[in-house]
Amino acid sequence: MGKHNKIKAHTLYDIKDGKLERKNKKCPRCKSFLATDKNRLFCGGCGYSEQKSKSEDKKE
Ligand SMILES: [Zn+2]
Repeated sequence: MGKHNKIKAHTLYDIKDGKLERKNKKCPRCKSFLATDKNRLFCGGCGYSEQKSKSEDKKE
């Protein structure tokens, strides 16, 4: 048998009040969806990454 090709849908969508929301932006370089990593967005395709929220400049 082949390998399991698990699609991590929960990394691309967020379920809010029973609604499916697309929360991720697309990569400006390769147009793949960006994965979220805490306060960063990360592209698994080309390695592009950016800050998630530039407006919210929270300092610890
Ligand atoms: Zn990319």
